[in-house]
Amino acid sequence: MNSVSPESHGLVDSHCHLDFPEFDGKLDAVREEMRASGVTHALCISVNLADFPKVLALAEAYDNFFASVGVHPDHDERAPVDSRRLVELARHPRVVAIGETGLDYYRVSGDLEWQRERFRAHIRAARECGKPLVIHTREAAEDTLAIMREEGAAEVGGVMHCFTESQAVADAAIALGFHISFSGIVTFKNAGALKEVARRVPLERLLVETDSPYLAPVPHRGKTNQPALVRHVAEELARLRGIPLSELGAGTTDNFFRLFKEALR
Ligand SMILES: [Zn+2]
Ligand SMILES: [Zn+2]
Repeated sequence: MNSVSPESHGLVDSHCHLDFPEFDGKLDAVREEMRASGVTHALCISVNLADFPKVLALAEAYDNFFASVGVHPDHDERAPVDSRRLVELARHPRVVAIGETGLDYYRVSGDLEWQRERFRAHIRAARECGKPLVIHTREAAEDTLAIMREEGAAEVGGVMHCFTESQAVADAAIALGFHISFSGIVTFKNAGALKEVARRVPLERLLVETDSPYLAPVPHRGKTNQPALVRHVAEELARLRGIPLSELGAGTTDNFFRLFKEALR
């Protein structure tokens, strides 16, 4: 149960930031660790347009890396994000998603209308180019869901990444056709309520991620995270759900490719 054999499904890290300076000069080691841990693919997530070329370069250089394009809600440069620009950048065949986008009322405060407008622009771009959304939400679940409904996010679907919300929020996102992705947070001892949610999300809507370099799972908590460690997230989910790691891995990997398949063509 604890090993992913080469012939079985590998795991996919559905959300990481390998363009961040933490990984400069370390990519060979990161990729070797992935191989050793049976992590076959990773989705490299964009957080602002200035750094997007670096994210895209990763997906162009390695055929098991993919890219998203978007501007993170914490990115405090408040200039509006032009949805046409996002659509243009998303035309690249290695770009499989729009994001990360969403709302974050924890990190940023004041009048956040600019953040909501930015989120709307991303949903419009996703609908325009037919690619799924990678959504970040923190202390803003109600507004996040309201905007998803108002802007018709269900048309493209996507993922609620690094999920830390309640069962009710998970159910609402699932009803909109979205997937729920768990990060290393679900391995933390104090994450009791989240572990309950992780037990109950239907397997066909489940994804796993690291959000590297942040949020390293137990037993690496506090260190620099990397895609290989998504294995600990998958192991914890398998344990919570009482299924073999191979089943959890096969399910989440199939979900990943089903969700992003259209975009991968
Ligand atoms: Zn995020
Ligand atoms: Zn992220």
